[in-house]
Amino acid sequence: MERWNINKSSDLYGVTEWSGGYFFVAENGDLMVAPASGETERAVSIAEVSRGMRDRGFDMPVLLRIENILDSQITLLNETFCDAMSELGYKGSFMGAYPIKVNQQQQVVEKIAQFGSRYHHGLEAGSKAELIAAMGMMRDKKAVLICNGYKDEEFIDLGLYATKIGYTCILVVEMPDELPLIIERSKKLKARPILGIRIKLSAQAGGHWAESGGERSIFGLNTSQVIHAVDMLKEAGMLDCLKLVHYHLGSQISNIREIRTAVNEACRVYAGLAKEGAAVEYLDLGGGLAVDYDGSQSNFLSSRNYTLKEYCTDIVEAVMTSLEDANIPAPVIITESGRALVAYYSILLFNILDVTRFEPDPLPDTLPEDCPPQLEYMHQALKDLTIRNIQEVFNDTIFYRDETRRLFQTGKITLRERSLAERLFWTTINRISRLAKDLRNPGAELSDLDRILSDFYYCNFSVFQSLPDSWAIEQLFPIMPIHRLDEEPTRKGILADITCDCDGKIDQFIDKRGVKHYLPLHELKPYEEYILGAFLVGAYQETLGDLHNLLGDTNIVTIRIKEQGEFEFVNEQEGDTVAEVLSYVQYDPKRLFVRFRETAEQAVREGKISPQERREVVSVYEAGLRGYTYFER
Ligand SMILES: *Cc1c(COP(=O)(O)O)cnc(C)c1O
Repeated sequence: MERWNINKSSDLYGVTEWSGGYFFVAENGDLMVAPASGETERAVSIAEVSRGMRDRGFDMPVLLRIENILDSQITLLNETFCDAMSELGYKGSFMGAYPIKVNQQQQVVEKIAQFGSRYHHGLEAGSKAELIAAMGMMRDKKAVLICNGYKDEEFIDLGLYATKIGYTCILVVEMPDELPLIIERSKKLKARPILGIRIKLSAQAGGHWAESGGERSIFGLNTSQVIHAVDMLKEAGMLDCLKLVHYHLGSQISNIREIRTAVNEACRVYAGLAKEGAAVEYLDLGGGLAVDYDGSQSNFLSSRNYTLKEYCTDIVEAVMTSLEDANIPAPVIITESGRALVAYYSILLFNILDVTRFEPDPLPDTLPEDCPPQLEYMHQALKDLTIRNIQEVFNDTIFYRDETRRLFQTGKITLRERSLAERLFWTTINRISRLAKDLRNPGAELSDLDRILSDFYYCNFSVFQSLPDSWAIEQLFPIMPIHRLDEEPTRKGILADITCDCDGKIDQFIDKRGVKHYLPLHELKPYEEYILGAFLVGAYQETLGDLHNLLGDTNIVTIRIKEQGEFEFVNEQEGDTVAEVLSYVQYDPKRLFVRFRETAEQAVREGKISPQERREVVSVYEAGLRGYTYFER
């Protein structure tokens, strides 16, 4: 047999397929991260980074951000659109706008504003708070600042002032009722707004967010409402303010055909508005550019059946063909890509705390004398097991195991006997699973045994807090060890988080053909941390978390990879302390502390503990309040 090697690991975890050129396996078995797609010479070992974090006192779990990747993704999006435009001879231009809701963290938005400035990459705000954040972060007056979302007077006024002081701030009308208010406020503030209209398309995309597009979409104006808006603007002498047409089909659109269809329809509306006399200039296609999380390059939910190049080319081409006969200047094409921009740049790193195996202790050679007959039957079935009677033994074993459980409940067999029955059961199932590998057509039940027999790896993180989409919408993320990739992973495991909630687990993993129900993993080594990474977690995961079991934000560490491939820590954010998390749910940590001290004092008075012990107990409680919410070594 050929020895295990890093190429086998790379293939097993599908690294080349999902990595976007940012991750690969090094000779020494470490997973490497490159500062830009394909730039392997300057790559750094993630395991080395994680050792650096440990030495600086940053406990797992940690959200690791690689700043260069964000820079690189912004560059890729802008350059690819530019290239497509010059190749096709498009006369307009491209502008990006990053939707803040995809990852609102100050550091992320700040970096996007910084890295994006050379392309005038703008921001998209969907609420007042996001607009306030954007106005404080953005310097670039040429970049667009797009205001979506339902708007009250305050929101509108803020947007109008932004325009007054020189921002290219575009107020997008999402609901018919907003327009009269916008007109009124513009007159009051003597501001000339830049307006957009969000349209409802009849085209609808599949996927989780199907309802965001289509006629049943919650936001946007249908064609008769659009016409009504045009008339209203005409009457107010403001039709020349209408400069942008917007739609948003939904996120993670995995099928390129749906993207093209929507562009076509939007172009018809755009041309129609131009004909009505609106000074349209921008065509804003919203988000939707998908991430190939599972690397299958298919129209599967966690994938996409197109490349970035195809996405850009198809859009530019569709705009050109649709507007060919309209005889109007080529619009500035805007996309509000969020997911594709930020997903790659964050990795969640966590350590394994413990493993449970479904391999029973060895059986005794003979059963005890006065054993219940059900156990005798199971024992006999195990002895008789061959590849020929495999299904029969499987059925019998399950039948007698259920019998023994029933008898236990009615008090007919002892705890010790039941435990022996369970061991017999698991021993038989393990042996069946091994034999079943030689069957040509094992059938669904027998092929499912791999999953049933897979180990539990207990992981130091909370799915609810750090990978909410994995729990809520069964989004797949690539997950794999970040080291030991030169060793064969001989175990199969599913991941359990530390919430001890039966939903707090991951038992679906990426696979080139569909979904895998276990993850190949290594045996734990004594005294050595085993660290896994969940990848492409930069989009939508950080603020949807719900403090389940009061596990809070993780530590966040950002690195920058420099010229010679050395890295530096550029930003470190401590995760929530227990006291912080408690205060989010309205506890007052100070009062908790005082009350606990009183309880301890009472124990002293009752002679249960000494005053010295009280001091220790109280200081442990206090340290707990100050500590990390996750498992600390
Ligand atoms: C959520 C959202 C986006 C971002 O979509 P992605 O698929 O993450 O790029 C863009 N525009 C609007 C209006 C949104 O609501």
